[in-house]
Amino acid sequence: MSDAVLSTRNLAKNFGALKATDDVSIDLRAGEIHAVIGPNGAGKSTLIKQICGSLKPDAGQVFLNGRDVSGLSTQDRAHAGLGRTFQISALCMEDTVLENAVLGTIGAERAVWSFWSNALKMKKLTERAMEALERIGLAEHHQTKCANLSHGQRRQLEVAMALTLSPRAFIMDEPMAGLGAEGSKQLTGMLDGLRSEAPILLVEHDMDAVFALADRISVLVYGKIIATGTADEIRNSQDVRDAYLGEEV
Ligand code: ADP
Ligand code: MG
Repeated sequence: MSDAVLSTRNLAKNFGALKATDDVSIDLRAGEIHAVIGPNGAGKSTLIKQICGSLKPDAGQVFLNGRDVSGLSTQDRAHAGLGRTFQISALCMEDTVLENAVLGTIGAERAVWSFWSNALKMKKLTERAMEALERIGLAEHHQTKCANLSHGQRRQLEVAMALTLSPRAFIMDEPMAGLGAEGSKQLTGMLDGLRSEAPILLVEHDMDAVFALADRISVLVYGKIIATGTADEIRNSQDVRDAYLGEEV
C-alpha cells in the first residue's frame, strides 16, 4: 500500500447473512482513475460508505496516505483529504453557485457560522470557491441560482465543492446517474482533467464513461473483487465476462 494514496484492507460488512463486502482490498494510486464496476447489489455503495466513514465495517481498515483513518468520522476523513462528491440534496437550491461553493470551503476551514461575519476570512473563502468554480468550468455561472442549473451543472458544482477541500483523493458513487448523453460527456471530460488534481475512485454504471476514463478497473461481484486490471485486461477477462460483462463489452 506504500505508493497508494487511498487503500482498503480486508473490508468486510455483513447485513444479516448477506456478505455485502467480503474481504475487499483495493488501492488508489497517485494520478489514476480507478473504476469499481459490478452488477446491482454487488456492494459498490457499501464499499464507498465504508471508505467515507458513513458505514462502519465489521472488519478491515481504510488508509489515506498510509495513515489508518478507520477510526475517524466522515467529517474528519474529509478534512484528512477524502474528497467525496456531495449528494444533490446537499446543494442549497435557493442560493447561488458561488454561495454553495463557499459552503464547501467552510467545511475546509473547519469554520463555524460566525465566520460569515468575518470579512477578511470571507474574502479568502470566496477566492478559494471561485478558484474551484474556474477549475470546474462553472465560473461564468457563479451568480446563477442553483435551482436554475442543469442536472449536469449541479454535478459539476458538487465536484467543485469537494475540490475546495483540496482533497488527496476523490471518491464518487455514480456521478453520471441521471445525466443525459450530453451531460455525461461533459462530466467525463471534466473528470478526465481532475485526475491530475487528485486520483479518483469511481463507481460508475455508465460503461462508456468507465472505459473512457479508467486507468484501472476492479470488478466487484457478490461483495468480492474478482479482477483488477487495465480496461483491456478487464474487457478480455473470461472470468469477468462470465460473471458480469457478458456480451456487453
Ligand atoms: P451496489 O451499490 O453495488 O448496487 P449496495 O452496496 O447498495 O450495492 O448493496 C449491496 C447489498 O447489500 C445489496 O444486496 C443490498 O440490498 C444490501 N444492503 C445494502 N445496504 C443495506 C442495509 N442498510 N441493510 C440491509 N441490506 C443492505
Ligand atoms: Mg450503489
